[in-house]
Amino acid sequence: MSEKRKVCLEDHEMPKFWYNIVADMPNPPHPVLHPGTGKPVTPDDLTPLFPMGVIEQEVSAERHIEIPREVRDILKLWRPSPLFRARGLEKLLDTPAHIYFKNEGVSPAGSHKPNTAVPQAFYNKIAGVKRIATETGAGQWGSSMCFAGTLFGLEVKVYMVRVSYDQKPYRRMMMETWGGAVVPSPSPDTEAGRAVLARDPESMGSLGLAISEAVEDAVSREDTRYALGSVLNHVCLHQTVIGQEAMLQMERFDEFPDVVIGCHGGGSNFSGIAFPFLGDKIRNKTNVRLVAVEPFSCPTLTRGSFAFDYGDTAHLSPIVKMYTLGASFMPPGIHAGGLRYHGAAPLVSQLLNEGFIEARSVHQLESFEAAVQFARTEGIIPAPESSHAIRAAIDEALEAKKEGKKRVILFNLSGHGHFDMTSYEKYFAGQLANYVLPEAEIEKALQELPKVDL
Ligand SMILES: *Cc1c(COP(=O)(O)O)cnc(C)c1O
Repeated sequence: MSEKRKVCLEDHEMPKFWYNIVADMPNPPHPVLHPGTGKPVTPDDLTPLFPMGVIEQEVSAERHIEIPREVRDILKLWRPSPLFRARGLEKLLDTPAHIYFKNEGVSPAGSHKPNTAVPQAFYNKIAGVKRIATETGAGQWGSSMCFAGTLFGLEVKVYMVRVSYDQKPYRRMMMETWGGAVVPSPSPDTEAGRAVLARDPESMGSLGLAISEAVEDAVSREDTRYALGSVLNHVCLHQTVIGQEAMLQMERFDEFPDVVIGCHGGGSNFSGIAFPFLGDKIRNKTNVRLVAVEPFSCPTLTRGSFAFDYGDTAHLSPIVKMYTLGASFMPPGIHAGGLRYHGAAPLVSQLLNEGFIEARSVHQLESFEAAVQFARTEGIIPAPESSHAIRAAIDEALEAKKEGKKRVILFNLSGHGHFDMTSYEKYFAGQLANYVLPEAEIEKALQELPKVDL
Protein backbone atom coordinates (compact mmCIF):
# COMPACT_ATOMS: atom_id res chain seq x y z
CA MET A 1 0.00 0.00 0.00
CA SER A 2 1.37 3.39 -0.89
CA GLU A 3 2.78 5.73 1.76
CA LYS A 4 0.63 8.58 0.52
CA ARG A 5 -2.59 6.72 1.11
CA LYS A 6 -1.45 5.41 4.48
CA VAL A 7 -0.89 8.83 6.03
CA CYS A 8 -4.50 9.81 5.37
CA LEU A 9 -5.79 6.96 7.49
CA GLU A 10 -5.94 6.50 11.22
CA ASP A 11 -4.70 3.31 12.85
CA HIS A 12 -8.12 1.67 12.57
CA GLU A 13 -8.17 2.58 8.86
CA MET A 14 -10.81 5.22 8.72
CA PRO A 15 -9.87 8.30 6.71
CA LYS A 16 -8.82 11.32 8.71
CA PHE A 17 -9.60 13.71 5.85
CA TRP A 18 -12.38 14.19 3.36
CA TYR A 19 -11.26 14.36 -0.26
CA ASN A 20 -12.42 17.34 -2.31
CA ILE A 21 -12.63 16.61 -6.06
CA VAL A 22 -12.76 20.36 -6.82
CA ALA A 23 -8.99 20.49 -6.23
CA ASP A 24 -8.42 18.12 -9.16
CA MET A 25 -11.07 19.37 -11.58
CA PRO A 26 -9.61 21.15 -14.59
CA ASN A 27 -12.42 23.71 -14.55
CA PRO A 28 -13.80 25.41 -11.45
CA PRO A 29 -17.43 24.71 -10.49
CA HIS A 30 -20.09 27.04 -11.91
CA PRO A 31 -21.34 29.74 -9.56
CA VAL A 32 -24.40 29.13 -7.39
CA LEU A 33 -27.11 31.75 -7.99
CA HIS A 34 -29.54 33.43 -5.61
CA PRO A 35 -33.12 32.31 -6.39
CA GLY A 36 -34.44 35.85 -5.94
CA THR A 37 -31.82 38.00 -7.66
CA GLY A 38 -30.23 35.49 -10.07
CA LYS A 39 -26.82 36.83 -8.94
CA PRO A 40 -24.03 34.58 -7.57
CA VAL A 41 -24.65 33.84 -3.89
CA THR A 42 -22.24 34.97 -1.23
CA PRO A 43 -21.56 32.93 1.92
CA ASP A 44 -23.74 35.50 3.76
CA ASP A 45 -26.74 34.58 1.58
CA LEU A 46 -26.45 31.02 2.79
CA THR A 47 -26.29 31.71 6.55
CA PRO A 48 -30.08 31.46 7.07
CA LEU A 49 -29.81 27.91 5.68
CA PHE A 50 -26.51 26.46 6.81
CA PRO A 51 -23.91 26.85 9.58
CA MET A 52 -20.59 28.44 8.57
CA GLY A 53 -18.61 25.19 8.85
CA VAL A 54 -20.80 23.72 6.12
CA ILE A 55 -20.79 26.85 3.94
CA GLU A 56 -16.98 26.93 3.99
CA GLN A 57 -16.87 23.36 2.74
CA GLU A 58 -19.50 24.07 0.10
CA VAL A 59 -17.18 26.60 -1.58
CA SER A 60 -13.82 25.03 -0.72
CA ALA A 61 -11.24 24.06 -3.32
CA GLU A 62 -8.84 22.54 -0.77
CA ARG A 63 -7.93 18.95 -1.63
CA HIS A 64 -8.00 17.48 1.89
CA ILE A 65 -10.27 18.72 4.68
CA GLU A 66 -9.77 17.28 8.14
CA ILE A 67 -12.66 15.32 9.65
CA PRO A 68 -13.21 16.72 13.17
CA ARG A 69 -12.36 14.34 16.02
CA GLU A 70 -15.98 14.43 17.34
CA VAL A 71 -17.26 13.36 13.91
CA ARG A 72 -14.71 10.58 13.54
CA ASP A 73 -15.59 9.23 16.97
CA ILE A 74 -19.18 8.73 15.82
CA LEU A 75 -18.35 7.45 12.33
CA LYS A 76 -16.25 4.78 14.06
CA LEU A 77 -19.48 3.16 15.28
CA TRP A 78 -19.67 1.50 11.85
CA ARG A 79 -16.63 2.64 9.84
CA PRO A 80 -14.63 1.53 8.05
CA SER A 81 -17.50 -0.22 6.30
CA PRO A 82 -16.64 -3.67 4.93
CA LEU A 83 -15.69 -4.38 1.32
CA PHE A 84 -16.41 -7.87 0.01
CA ARG A 85 -15.78 -9.86 -3.11
CA ALA A 86 -19.13 -11.19 -4.39
CA ARG A 87 -17.94 -14.69 -5.20
CA GLY A 88 -21.41 -16.19 -4.98
CA LEU A 89 -22.74 -13.72 -7.53
CA GLU A 90 -19.71 -14.26 -9.79
CA LYS A 91 -20.37 -18.01 -9.68
CA LEU A 92 -24.05 -17.58 -10.53
CA LEU A 93 -23.16 -15.39 -13.50
CA ASP A 94 -20.33 -17.73 -14.50
CA THR A 95 -18.21 -14.70 -15.32
CA PRO A 96 -14.46 -14.12 -15.43
CA ALA A 97 -15.14 -10.72 -13.84
CA HIS A 98 -14.23 -10.05 -10.21
CA ILE A 99 -17.09 -8.23 -8.49
CA TYR A 100 -16.45 -6.26 -5.31
CA PHE A 101 -18.88 -4.24 -3.25
CA LYS A 102 -18.60 -1.77 -0.43
CA ASN A 103 -21.40 -2.27 2.11
CA GLU A 104 -22.77 1.04 3.39
CA GLY A 105 -25.84 -0.77 4.74
CA VAL A 106 -23.98 -1.41 8.02
CA SER A 107 -24.58 2.10 9.40
CA PRO A 108 -27.19 2.53 12.17
CA ALA A 109 -29.69 4.04 9.70
CA GLY A 110 -28.89 1.39 7.08
CA SER A 111 -27.33 3.50 4.33
CA HIS A 112 -24.43 5.81 3.44
CA LYS A 113 -26.40 8.89 4.53
CA PRO A 114 -25.18 9.07 8.16
CA ASN A 115 -21.70 9.78 6.70
CA THR A 116 -22.93 13.33 6.04
CA ALA A 117 -25.72 13.59 8.64
CA VAL A 118 -23.16 13.31 11.45
CA PRO A 119 -20.83 16.12 10.29
CA GLN A 120 -23.82 18.32 9.38
CA ALA A 121 -25.26 17.86 12.89
CA PHE A 122 -21.81 18.60 14.34
CA TYR A 123 -21.33 21.89 12.44
CA ASN A 124 -24.85 23.00 13.43
CA LYS A 125 -24.22 22.12 17.06
CA ILE A 126 -21.00 24.12 17.30
CA ALA A 127 -22.75 27.07 15.61
CA GLY A 128 -25.38 27.11 18.38
CA VAL A 129 -28.25 25.87 16.20
CA LYS A 130 -31.01 24.11 18.20
CA ARG A 131 -33.22 22.61 15.51
CA ILE A 132 -32.84 21.18 12.00
CA ALA A 133 -35.55 21.09 9.31
CA THR A 134 -35.08 18.65 6.49
CA GLU A 135 -36.91 16.54 3.93
CA THR A 136 -36.76 12.86 3.15
CA GLY A 137 -37.63 10.87 0.05
CA ALA A 138 -37.49 7.18 0.90
CA GLY A 139 -36.95 7.89 4.60
CA GLN A 140 -33.25 7.10 4.54
CA TRP A 141 -32.06 10.66 4.87
CA GLY A 142 -34.67 11.59 7.48
CA SER A 143 -33.68 8.65 9.64
CA SER A 144 -29.99 9.46 9.23
CA MET A 145 -30.57 13.07 10.25
CA CYS A 146 -32.67 12.02 13.27
CA PHE A 147 -29.94 9.57 14.30
CA ALA A 148 -27.23 12.27 14.02
CA GLY A 149 -29.48 14.90 15.63
CA THR A 150 -30.12 12.85 18.72
CA LEU A 151 -26.41 12.17 19.24
CA PHE A 152 -25.73 15.93 19.24
CA GLY A 153 -28.89 16.94 21.15
CA LEU A 154 -30.60 18.70 18.18
CA GLU A 155 -34.33 18.70 17.47
CA VAL A 156 -35.12 17.42 13.96
CA LYS A 157 -38.28 18.08 11.90
CA VAL A 158 -38.67 15.92 8.80
CA TYR A 159 -40.94 16.60 5.79
CA MET A 160 -41.41 13.13 4.32
CA VAL A 161 -42.57 12.74 0.70
CA ARG A 162 -46.17 11.51 0.91
CA VAL A 163 -45.65 8.39 -1.23
CA SER A 164 -42.91 7.13 1.13
CA TYR A 165 -44.78 8.23 4.25
CA ASP A 166 -47.58 5.88 3.19
CA GLN A 167 -45.34 3.07 1.92
CA LYS A 168 -42.78 3.08 4.73
CA PRO A 169 -44.36 3.43 8.17
CA TYR A 170 -41.36 1.76 9.81
CA ARG A 171 -38.97 4.39 8.49
CA ARG A 172 -41.18 6.94 10.21
CA MET A 173 -41.11 4.94 13.45
CA MET A 174 -37.35 4.80 13.21
CA MET A 175 -37.17 8.59 12.98
CA GLU A 176 -39.52 8.95 15.93
CA THR A 177 -37.47 6.45 17.94
CA TRP A 178 -34.48 8.75 17.42
CA GLY A 179 -36.61 11.67 18.62
CA GLY A 180 -37.54 13.26 15.29
CA ALA A 181 -40.88 14.88 14.35
CA VAL A 182 -42.21 13.64 10.98
CA VAL A 183 -45.00 15.03 8.75
CA PRO A 184 -46.07 13.93 5.26
CA SER A 185 -45.19 16.38 2.45
CA PRO A 186 -47.17 18.22 1.15
CA SER A 187 -47.98 19.26 4.73
CA PRO A 188 -50.26 21.97 6.09
CA ASP A 189 -47.30 23.31 8.13
CA THR A 190 -45.80 25.51 5.39
CA GLU A 191 -47.02 27.85 2.67
CA ALA A 192 -45.39 25.71 -0.03
CA GLY A 193 -47.20 22.63 1.29
CA ARG A 194 -50.55 24.37 1.67
CA ALA A 195 -50.38 25.70 -1.89
CA VAL A 196 -49.94 22.21 -3.33
CA LEU A 197 -52.62 20.71 -1.08
CA ALA A 198 -55.07 23.38 -2.26
CA ARG A 199 -54.49 22.36 -5.89
CA ASP A 200 -54.27 18.62 -5.28
CA PRO A 201 -55.23 17.23 -1.87
CA GLU A 202 -54.15 13.75 -3.06
CA SER A 203 -50.65 14.86 -4.13
CA MET A 204 -48.03 12.12 -3.69
CA GLY A 205 -45.43 14.81 -3.14
CA SER A 206 -41.92 15.00 -4.54
CA LEU A 207 -38.48 15.56 -3.16
CA GLY A 208 -38.43 19.03 -4.74
CA LEU A 209 -41.56 20.02 -2.84
CA ALA A 210 -40.40 18.52 0.45
CA ILE A 211 -37.19 20.54 0.10
CA SER A 212 -39.27 23.70 -0.35
CA GLU A 213 -41.13 22.96 2.86
CA ALA A 214 -37.98 22.29 4.87
CA VAL A 215 -36.22 25.39 3.50
CA GLU A 216 -39.25 27.56 4.30
CA ASP A 217 -39.34 26.14 7.83
CA ALA A 218 -35.61 26.80 8.34
CA VAL A 219 -35.57 30.38 7.07
CA SER A 220 -38.66 31.30 9.09
CA ARG A 221 -37.09 30.35 12.45
CA GLU A 222 -34.03 31.84 14.08
CA ASP A 223 -33.12 28.63 15.97
CA THR A 224 -33.40 26.40 12.88
CA ARG A 225 -31.16 25.54 9.95
CA TYR A 226 -31.69 23.34 6.94
CA ALA A 227 -29.84 20.13 6.07
CA LEU A 228 -29.73 18.42 2.69
CA GLY A 229 -28.83 14.74 2.31
CA SER A 230 -27.45 14.83 -1.21
CA VAL A 231 -26.66 17.04 -4.23
CA LEU A 232 -24.56 19.78 -2.60
CA ASN A 233 -20.76 19.87 -2.69
CA HIS A 234 -20.30 19.44 1.06
CA VAL A 235 -22.50 16.32 1.02
CA CYS A 236 -20.46 14.75 -1.79
CA LEU A 237 -17.33 15.70 0.16
CA HIS A 238 -18.51 13.96 3.34
CA GLN A 239 -19.24 10.78 1.40
CA THR A 240 -15.65 10.44 0.17
CA VAL A 241 -14.82 8.32 3.21
CA ILE A 242 -16.41 5.50 1.17
CA GLY A 243 -14.07 5.66 -1.82
CA GLN A 244 -10.95 6.34 0.24
CA GLU A 245 -11.57 3.27 2.36
CA ALA A 246 -12.41 1.25 -0.74
CA MET A 247 -9.10 2.18 -2.40
CA LEU A 248 -7.19 0.82 0.55
CA GLN A 249 -9.39 -2.26 0.84
CA MET A 250 -8.96 -3.05 -2.87
CA GLU A 251 -5.20 -2.84 -2.36
CA ARG A 252 -5.57 -5.51 0.31
CA PHE A 253 -7.11 -7.75 -2.34
CA ASP A 254 -4.23 -6.72 -4.57
CA GLU A 255 -6.67 -5.47 -7.19
CA PHE A 256 -7.60 -2.18 -8.79
CA PRO A 257 -11.04 -1.65 -10.33
CA ASP A 258 -11.60 -1.30 -14.07
CA VAL A 259 -14.99 0.19 -13.31
CA VAL A 260 -16.53 1.84 -10.22
CA ILE A 261 -20.32 1.97 -10.04
CA GLY A 262 -22.79 3.82 -7.85
CA CYS A 263 -26.53 4.38 -8.09
CA HIS A 264 -27.50 8.00 -8.59
CA GLY A 265 -30.35 9.90 -6.97
CA GLY A 266 -28.83 13.25 -6.06
CA GLY A 267 -25.29 11.99 -6.57
CA SER A 268 -23.84 11.63 -3.10
CA ASN A 269 -23.15 7.91 -2.75
CA PHE A 270 -21.86 7.82 -6.33
CA SER A 271 -19.55 10.76 -5.54
CA GLY A 272 -18.50 9.06 -2.34
CA ILE A 273 -17.24 5.93 -4.00
CA ALA A 274 -16.17 7.50 -7.32
CA PHE A 275 -14.46 10.83 -6.51
CA PRO A 276 -11.39 9.43 -4.73
CA PHE A 277 -10.83 7.07 -7.69
CA LEU A 278 -11.48 9.89 -10.15
CA GLY A 279 -9.03 12.23 -8.41
CA ASP A 280 -6.45 9.45 -8.53
CA LYS A 281 -7.28 8.94 -12.23
CA ILE A 282 -6.80 12.62 -13.04
CA ARG A 283 -3.53 12.84 -11.08
CA ASN A 284 -2.05 9.42 -11.91
CA LYS A 285 -3.66 8.66 -15.30
CA THR A 286 -5.32 5.36 -14.39
CA ASN A 287 -7.92 3.84 -16.73
CA VAL A 288 -10.72 3.34 -14.22
CA ARG A 289 -14.23 4.12 -15.52
CA LEU A 290 -16.77 5.76 -13.21
CA VAL A 291 -20.43 4.90 -13.86
CA ALA A 292 -23.50 6.55 -12.31
CA VAL A 293 -26.74 4.54 -12.60
CA GLU A 294 -30.21 6.05 -12.44
CA PRO A 295 -33.77 4.77 -12.96
CA PHE A 296 -35.21 4.80 -16.46
CA SER A 297 -38.27 6.55 -15.03
CA CYS A 298 -36.31 9.50 -13.56
CA PRO A 299 -33.55 9.92 -16.16
CA THR A 300 -31.88 13.10 -14.96
CA LEU A 301 -28.34 12.41 -16.16
CA THR A 302 -29.23 10.50 -19.32
CA ARG A 303 -32.14 12.58 -20.66
CA GLY A 304 -32.12 15.84 -18.68
CA SER A 305 -30.59 19.16 -19.70
CA PHE A 306 -27.35 20.58 -18.29
CA ALA A 307 -28.72 23.93 -17.21
CA PHE A 308 -29.16 26.34 -14.32
CA ASP A 309 -32.21 25.27 -12.34
CA TYR A 310 -33.85 25.53 -8.96
CA GLY A 311 -33.23 22.77 -6.45
CA ASP A 312 -36.84 22.77 -5.28
CA THR A 313 -40.39 23.19 -6.53
CA ALA A 314 -41.16 26.50 -4.81
CA HIS A 315 -37.91 28.14 -6.03
CA LEU A 316 -36.66 28.95 -2.53
CA SER A 317 -33.33 27.12 -2.77
CA PRO A 318 -30.32 28.40 -4.73
CA ILE A 319 -30.09 27.97 -8.52
CA VAL A 320 -27.32 25.62 -9.57
CA LYS A 321 -26.01 24.36 -12.89
CA MET A 322 -26.85 20.67 -13.11
CA TYR A 323 -28.49 17.99 -15.16
CA THR A 324 -32.19 18.49 -14.54
CA LEU A 325 -35.64 17.36 -15.59
CA GLY A 326 -37.04 20.71 -14.40
CA ALA A 327 -37.92 21.65 -10.82
CA SER A 328 -41.64 21.07 -11.42
CA PHE A 329 -40.98 17.49 -12.53
CA MET A 330 -43.17 15.02 -10.62
CA PRO A 331 -41.56 11.60 -10.92
CA PRO A 332 -43.78 8.52 -11.17
CA GLY A 333 -44.17 6.56 -7.91
CA ILE A 334 -41.42 4.04 -8.57
CA HIS A 335 -40.08 2.04 -5.69
CA ALA A 336 -36.61 3.45 -5.53
CA GLY A 337 -37.92 6.50 -3.66
CA GLY A 338 -34.40 7.80 -3.03
CA LEU A 339 -33.77 8.12 -6.76
CA ARG A 340 -36.74 10.36 -7.56
CA TYR A 341 -35.05 13.77 -7.60
CA HIS A 342 -35.38 16.07 -10.62
CA GLY A 343 -31.80 17.32 -10.42
CA ALA A 344 -28.29 16.03 -9.77
CA ALA A 345 -25.19 17.05 -7.89
CA PRO A 346 -23.55 20.00 -9.69
CA LEU A 347 -20.15 18.32 -9.30
CA VAL A 348 -21.37 15.05 -10.84
CA SER A 349 -23.17 17.02 -13.57
CA GLN A 350 -20.10 19.03 -14.54
CA LEU A 351 -17.87 15.93 -14.52
CA LEU A 352 -20.38 14.11 -16.71
CA ASN A 353 -20.67 17.07 -19.07
CA GLU A 354 -16.87 17.24 -19.37
CA GLY A 355 -16.55 13.52 -20.05
CA PHE A 356 -14.91 12.35 -16.82
CA ILE A 357 -17.69 9.99 -15.82
CA GLU A 358 -20.45 7.96 -17.52
CA ALA A 359 -24.16 7.68 -16.83
CA ARG A 360 -26.67 5.00 -17.69
CA SER A 361 -30.23 4.17 -16.73
CA VAL A 362 -31.85 0.87 -15.82
CA HIS A 363 -35.45 -0.29 -15.65
CA GLN A 364 -37.20 -0.97 -12.36
CA LEU A 365 -37.89 -4.66 -13.09
CA GLU A 366 -34.30 -5.34 -14.17
CA SER A 367 -33.00 -3.72 -11.01
CA PHE A 368 -35.26 -5.90 -8.82
CA GLU A 369 -34.15 -8.97 -10.75
CA ALA A 370 -30.55 -8.02 -9.94
CA ALA A 371 -31.47 -7.40 -6.30
CA VAL A 372 -32.94 -10.87 -5.93
CA GLN A 373 -29.93 -12.51 -7.60
CA PHE A 374 -27.69 -10.62 -5.20
CA ALA A 375 -29.77 -11.49 -2.14
CA ARG A 376 -29.80 -15.17 -3.07
CA THR A 377 -26.04 -15.39 -3.62
CA GLU A 378 -24.54 -12.84 -1.21
CA GLY A 379 -27.24 -12.93 1.47
CA ILE A 380 -27.74 -9.19 1.77
CA ILE A 381 -31.12 -7.78 0.77
CA PRO A 382 -30.29 -4.50 -0.98
CA ALA A 383 -32.22 -1.23 -0.98
CA PRO A 384 -34.11 -0.76 -4.28
CA GLU A 385 -31.85 2.25 -4.95
CA SER A 386 -28.68 0.20 -4.54
CA SER A 387 -30.13 -2.45 -6.83
CA HIS A 388 -29.60 -0.07 -9.76
CA ALA A 389 -25.85 -0.26 -9.09
CA ILE A 390 -26.05 -4.05 -8.76
CA ARG A 391 -27.84 -4.23 -12.12
CA ALA A 392 -25.06 -2.25 -13.78
CA ALA A 393 -22.39 -4.37 -12.05
CA ILE A 394 -24.07 -7.55 -13.31
CA ASP A 395 -24.27 -6.10 -16.83
CA GLU A 396 -20.55 -5.29 -16.71
CA ALA A 397 -19.83 -8.84 -15.52
CA LEU A 398 -21.91 -10.31 -18.33
CA GLU A 399 -20.07 -8.15 -20.89
CA ALA A 400 -16.78 -9.43 -19.50
CA LYS A 401 -18.11 -12.96 -19.91
CA LYS A 402 -19.02 -12.27 -23.53
CA GLU A 403 -15.52 -10.94 -24.15
CA GLY A 404 -14.01 -13.85 -22.21
CA LYS A 405 -11.84 -11.37 -20.29
CA LYS A 406 -11.34 -10.53 -16.63
CA ARG A 407 -12.84 -7.23 -15.49
CA VAL A 408 -12.58 -5.86 -11.95
CA ILE A 409 -15.87 -4.30 -10.92
CA LEU A 410 -16.48 -2.33 -7.76
CA PHE A 411 -19.91 -1.09 -6.80
CA ASN A 412 -21.30 0.72 -3.82
CA LEU A 413 -24.07 -1.05 -1.95
CA SER A 414 -25.57 2.19 -0.69
CA GLY A 415 -27.98 0.55 1.75
CA HIS A 416 -29.94 -2.48 2.87
CA GLY A 417 -33.58 -3.04 1.96
CA HIS A 418 -35.03 -4.11 5.31
CA PHE A 419 -37.57 -1.29 5.24
CA ASP A 420 -38.40 -1.84 1.59
CA MET A 421 -40.05 -5.22 1.81
CA THR A 422 -43.35 -3.82 0.49
CA SER A 423 -41.54 -3.07 -2.77
CA TYR A 424 -40.17 -6.61 -2.90
CA GLU A 425 -43.66 -7.91 -2.13
CA LYS A 426 -45.07 -5.97 -5.10
CA TYR A 427 -42.22 -7.18 -7.32
CA PHE A 428 -42.86 -10.83 -6.45
CA ALA A 429 -46.61 -10.32 -6.93
CA GLY A 430 -45.96 -9.00 -10.45
CA GLN A 431 -47.40 -5.60 -9.56
CA LEU A 432 -44.41 -3.52 -10.66
CA ALA A 433 -43.95 -2.32 -14.20
CA ASN A 434 -41.24 -0.60 -16.20
CA TYR A 435 -41.99 3.00 -16.88
CA VAL A 436 -40.65 5.11 -19.69
CA LEU A 437 -41.00 8.82 -19.26
CA PRO A 438 -42.61 10.45 -22.33
CA GLU A 439 -40.38 13.03 -24.02
CA ALA A 440 -43.24 15.55 -23.85
CA GLU A 441 -43.18 15.49 -20.05
CA ILE A 442 -39.48 16.23 -19.98
CA GLU A 443 -39.95 19.10 -22.41
CA LYS A 444 -42.81 20.52 -20.39
CA ALA A 445 -40.84 20.59 -17.15
CA LEU A 446 -37.82 22.12 -18.89
CA GLN A 447 -39.81 25.06 -20.21
CA GLU A 448 -39.81 26.46 -16.69
CA LEU A 449 -36.04 26.66 -16.33
CA PRO A 450 -35.00 30.03 -14.89
CA LYS A 451 -33.55 32.56 -17.32
CA VAL A 452 -30.07 33.34 -16.12
CA ASP A 453 -27.84 35.94 -17.46
CA LEU A 454 -24.17 35.56 -16.57
C1 LIG B 1 -30.71 8.26 -0.64
C2 LIG B 1 -30.23 6.99 -1.15
C3 LIG B 1 -29.69 6.91 -2.44
C4 LIG B 1 -29.66 8.05 -3.42
O1 LIG B 1 -29.01 9.20 -3.00
P1 LIG B 1 -27.61 9.67 -3.56
O2 LIG B 1 -27.41 11.00 -2.98
O3 LIG B 1 -27.68 9.67 -5.04
O4 LIG B 1 -26.61 8.71 -3.05
C5 LIG B 1 -29.19 5.70 -2.85
N1 LIG B 1 -29.24 4.61 -2.06
C6 LIG B 1 -29.75 4.65 -0.82
C7 LIG B 1 -29.78 3.41 -0.01
C8 LIG B 1 -30.25 5.85 -0.32
O5 LIG B 1 -30.74 5.90 0.91
